Amino acid sequence: MKAVRLHRVGSGVQVDEVPVPRPTSEDVLLRVEAAGLCGSDAHIINGRTPLPDYPRILGHEVAGTVCETGPSAAGVEVGARVAVNFLITCGQCRYCVSGRTSLCLSREGLGVVRDGGFAEYMVVPARNLIHIPGAVPFRHAALATDAFATSLHAISKRAQVQAGEGCIVVGVGGLGLSAVQLLKIRGAYPIIAVDADAKALELAMSLGATHSIPASAMGDENHPAWAAAGSPIHAFDFVGRPETVQAATHAVDRGGRVVVVGHSPNSWNTADGSTMVREEKTVMGSYAFDKNEIEDVLGFMSRGLIDVDTMIGQVIGLDDVDQALATFGASGRIPGRTLVEPAAGALTEGAFLLAEEPERTMS
Ligand SMILES: [Zn+2]
Ligand SMILES: [Zn+2]
Repeated sequence: MKAVRLHRVGSGVQVDEVPVPRPTSEDVLLRVEAAGLCGSDAHIINGRTPLPDYPRILGHEVAGTVCETGPSAAGVEVGARVAVNFLITCGQCRYCVSGRTSLCLSREGLGVVRDGGFAEYMVVPARNLIHIPGAVPFRHAALATDAFATSLHAISKRAQVQAGEGCIVVGVGGLGLSAVQLLKIRGAYPIIAVDADAKALELAMSLGATHSIPASAMGDENHPAWAAAGSPIHAFDFVGRPETVQAATHAVDRGGRVVVVGHSPNSWNTADGSTMVREEKTVMGSYAFDKNEIEDVLGFMSRGLIDVDTMIGQVIGLDDVDQALATFGASGRIPGRTLVEPAAGALTEGAFLLAEEPERTMS
């Protein structure tokens, strides 16, 4: 089969011909229908997120069709349409037992530490699969697994946003746009989008933001936009640079929370300790998601509460992944979300072929 692999940091990815993996014990073999390209993939190829070994098949936002089950795989059948929870967790450590699986002491990511979904086929433990509701296309389901679930985790589990509470979303690229939509579903008001890119702000307004503020005005409390937006209680920082965390900390109301999702190796420079104490402000991190949050997002999608198509910038084949990642690396952002559809191309010689083509609802 064809697979997009990273052989070493700094050399980009390449399409290789590799054997189709076999599902053993509790694993299943998926035919990959759609896989999202994520900012984390760019961090992996440029070495900011080093991997324990190479080569590695990237791709961690995956939806597909089950085409073979291992001897002890339970709860899934051949032909099922499924989304993949890319975080493999132990189920036994104190974090897993208490429901905070994204903190698992021995978590391993598919498409990171194990082979992922930028390939025609992929092996996944059965317990990491979530059935896709009938009305949700594969393209949308792929984005539920990370782009939306990560934002939902920050909003519901970390900040615990309630209806009527004001929120700032700093950085309205892929994850920020999903946050805007999820905050709208939750009844947050106002929803203030902050970004340096005027087009991104326009998109955020069309997807549910109630106010937009250019990044240059974020630290300027006299900017007219702040007078209209008031003093929100929550801020979600999808950029995660010291200057954005600092500006978000100043912008939230007394008692406010800043949830940082974007990674940066630099120290956060929030505010002087006296202000943090007297104004009871909290700055916290938020990492990935738990499996039930993917299920919640798929539920929102099946009820038509989320506009995913507007967020999809382009759909490409495996051969174009290297170029797409290079473009992202050069610009620092992906214009809308990029989806990879391996099955769109012809299957390569010797690939595992299905005896029976399962029903496909992909548009
Ligand atoms: Zn990702
Ligand atoms: Zn664990």
